[in-house]
Amino acid sequence: MTWRIWVILFALWISALGQTTMRSCPQCAEWNRPQPPFQIFGNTYYVGPHGLSSVLITSSSGHVLIDGALPESASLIAANMRSLGFRIVDVKLIVNSHAHIDHAGGIAELQRLSGARVLASAWSAKVLAHGGVGRGDPQYGSVSPIAPVKNVHVLQDGQSLRLGDILITPHLTPGHTPGGTSWTWKSCAGNICRDMVYADSLTPVASKGFQFTSSRAYPHALADFETSFAFLENVPCDILLTPHPELSGLWEHIAARERGVTPDPMVDTNACRRLAEHAREQLRQRIAEEQSAGRAH
Ligand SMILES: [Zn+2]
Repeated sequence: MTWRIWVILFALWISALGQTTMRSCPQCAEWNRPQPPFQIFGNTYYVGPHGLSSVLITSSSGHVLIDGALPESASLIAANMRSLGFRIVDVKLIVNSHAHIDHAGGIAELQRLSGARVLASAWSAKVLAHGGVGRGDPQYGSVSPIAPVKNVHVLQDGQSLRLGDILITPHLTPGHTPGGTSWTWKSCAGNICRDMVYADSLTPVASKGFQFTSSRAYPHALADFETSFAFLENVPCDILLTPHPELSGLWEHIAARERGVTPDPMVDTNACRRLAEHAREQLRQRIAEEQSAGRAH
């Protein structure tokens, strides 16, 4: 009976698919470790799990949420908001750094819970709307697909979005993905206002066989990185936040703050420039590796 064979093959394929998904994210459980939420500065709060940022910016007319971490992070993010006294239905806008499962995986569910509008760069919007992994993504073939998100709107580079007294600006910072987006806004406490920067990942990570120096799927990758480095080098930056919180030293800063260190360890006007320098060095090494691998062939 050939249909029996097909059923067995189908079952094997499904189980292999499950194992691949699990194997492809050995760090997910650690990333999703619960983290009590806290105030970063003024109306900006950390509501993500311990290993993946999700940032809430609040106003009396509704809130903005940046990044939704993993699919399994959504309920945790919602609970964190509640424990701070905010309601998820007051989130009116959800935006994203880049369309990978560890930062966009939870957006579909968070949108369902909140009814918020989702806005993303043109490239990321396409990925979010269709789900899966985007064409031209350096990690195409190795990163897990994301669930599709409904009604994704496309944002324009540099065009600020207003919600109540929140004014948040997207800056296209591609390279890690072709649709990478960083975000800037001001948060105030009393009469002190800080320039907040949520800087997207700029790590040159890729699937086997992908070359940043010569990719047909992403031909302008190197030029994109340069644009993004220049942004980070020039942006007014008092408090730097990153999708992977440890990259901006968040936990050290928070620990120092809890020890009573002054001035506020979260404030570091050189943080964005240092991050750019670090990312430039990583790309330099990656290019050298690709070139030496090319010579070896
Ligand atoms: Zn990523």
